[in-house]
Amino acid sequence: MAKEKNYKGLFIRCLIALIFVGLLLSTYFVREQIENYLNSVLYPEVSDDISNSKLIMHFINVGNADAIAIELPNGEHMLIDSGDNNNTSREALISYLDNNFFENGEEKVFDYFILTHSDADHVGGAEIVLNTYKIEKCFRPYQFTEQEATENNITNKNNIVTTQVFQKFVNALEKENCEVEFFTVNSDINFSDFNINFIAPVETTFSDTNNYSPVMILTYAGVKTMFTGDAEKEVEDSLLDLYSDYSGEYATSVLDIDILKVGHHGSDTSSTEDFIKATTPSYAVICTDGKEYGHPSKTVLNRLQNNGTKNIYRTDLNGNIVIGVSEDGTISAVLGTITKGFKIEWYQLVILVGSVGLVIIFTIGKKKKAK
Ligand SMILES: [Zn+2]
Repeated sequence: MAKEKNYKGLFIRCLIALIFVGLLLSTYFVREQIENYLNSVLYPEVSDDISNSKLIMHFINVGNADAIAIELPNGEHMLIDSGDNNNTSREALISYLDNNFFENGEEKVFDYFILTHSDADHVGGAEIVLNTYKIEKCFRPYQFTEQEATENNITNKNNIVTTQVFQKFVNALEKENCEVEFFTVNSDINFSDFNINFIAPVETTFSDTNNYSPVMILTYAGVKTMFTGDAEKEVEDSLLDLYSDYSGEYATSVLDIDILKVGHHGSDTSSTEDFIKATTPSYAVICTDGKEYGHPSKTVLNRLQNNGTKNIYRTDLNGNIVIGVSEDGTISAVLGTITKGFKIEWYQLVILVGSVGLVIIFTIGKKKKAK
């Protein structure tokens, strides 16, 4: 009797399984619609047409270092950082700027040259930039060579930098004879249709050189891009204190942005969970070679993904990254190397859903055998 019942049960399960597999296979006829829908949700397409963009940001692949050249909507040029202190990085920077940034015959001028902090992977190419291009105005961190410190009565050792590469930058800056500003939160650059808001540094002395970095929000056509240099957790925390209401609702805060230049090459000393929740960027750019110091950190990558960042671009995987914003706020991106993202295909779905479904059909409600 029990055996007969078992056979009956098995028969019913087989029947259900057959119908289930049949239904699953019949989705073959709408496989394209299913694939397109899932892939558009998981991997939204970004247009690579930047011809209508008025703001164009070039994240140049200069190794584990930063160099971001920007064509501003008013036609002015900005350069944030200058790559690393080695020939490969410097050559990558200069050849990119000459071949891809400045147009043929155009006067090679940077209206703004911003050095975020004294580290070699940011000021490494500053000397050659100053010697190669005309610089109208240079924004530098509140950091000084020993000689400058003596001349200006700077006594806090944290503000004094003794590296050769920083000395070379300061020497070249003196020769350039351009306007120089030690950036603060009052260094905002305002035009009628765009502005750059400096929200950090909120202090003048830091024990960690990374934290001298400015945090700047460039707003154009309703699109906000945040540049962070190597600012770390301490800076992020102070910004959260200043701009978030901590009621769990971050959306209205100043920090809510669209595009994030991820702090400190994607290191987990920056990009805290709270900071990513507050900023919720749709796009994130990480400037890294993917080798040194374990940058970018897996934790940071997961954190971005889990908080809704759909497009994560990395100079180690994508090469030079160009992001454009048009007058109506459309964002486009051109990647130097297209690393084809994982795409879901119909047969993968069938295998996945099919195997899970069959396991459920054949195990659910089965009584454990009595001992
Ligand atoms: Zn750095």
